[in-house]
Amino acid sequence: MHAEDLLRRYLEQRRDQGENELVLDTLSVEDVMRLIGAARTSSKPDAPARAEDWRDTLRSSEADVRPPVSAESASAPVPTPSSTAIARDGIVVGSEGTELFGGELSQCHTLDDVSALIAACRKCDLYRTAKHPVPGEGSATARLVCVGEAPGASEDETGRPFVGQAGQLLTKILEAIKLSRDEVFIVNVLKHRPPGNRNPLPVEVDACRPYLIRQLEIIRPTVIVAFGTFAAQTLLDTKLSIGKLRGAIHRYHGIPVVVTYHPAALLRNPAWKRPTWEDVQLARRILDGVRK
Ligand code: SF4
Repeated sequence: MHAEDLLRRYLEQRRDQGENELVLDTLSVEDVMRLIGAARTSSKPDAPARAEDWRDTLRSSEADVRPPVSAESASAPVPTPSSTAIARDGIVVGSEGTELFGGELSQCHTLDDVSALIAACRKCDLYRTAKHPVPGEGSATARLVCVGEAPGASEDETGRPFVGQAGQLLTKILEAIKLSRDEVFIVNVLKHRPPGNRNPLPVEVDACRPYLIRQLEIIRPTVIVAFGTFAAQTLLDTKLSIGKLRGAIHRYHGIPVVVTYHPAALLRNPAWKRPTWEDVQLARRILDGVRK
């Protein structure tokens, strides 16, 4: 089978599984599918396929095509700082200083108040199958808020966010920009675990989103880091891929938002470790007042 067909089949499987990100950094699955189509029409029909053809095609599009990364490098230390590139302005959602919600959430003036509402919440069916609510944890005066997707099995067991393997990696990522977990606030878009770690449904996101927004209103952080496609797309109300959202400073009701890969994705794709490092360095620069 031609290398192009092999790659096409692989990409179709990834897309069918709902994945839209690739190790090829700024390219989405759709981007690469288009390139493969271009490669097919430009090659001679009878010519034998070369294993490197698709890499040549990607290189000609100025994509960053790196060789596969060994599994051991997944546990390698986070790279030392190197990026001081100026970030572009990104998506703006809402305006600064607006009160977002009325009703009972407007009566919540502390994070504990919000957590109490979450514990009693029946707005979607996820509470039925979850063991514990996972409202989020950390400092009520955090300058940086980490937003993830939804609790997994470990989080559901403990009622705490990011405590599994991905959570340990998040702790290392924070340490790399000189922050401890106690200094930040760590939270997910959804507060109860979707059964079997399935993707959250739009109706669940809509039901749960007010809690996150109220938490952000109470904390009023200097910067939000959205970890993973789901958190980024939910906060920024967009379908753009992480590859296209990274490297910009977006605004969520006036709060700068930096988008990066989810730690669980880094465990699968160590090549994303460097771009993640660049992203959290951008968040660090915002904290340091270098970029606002
Ligand atoms: S996931 Fe959110 S909206 Fe659904 S029951 Fe839990 S707290 Fe309520």
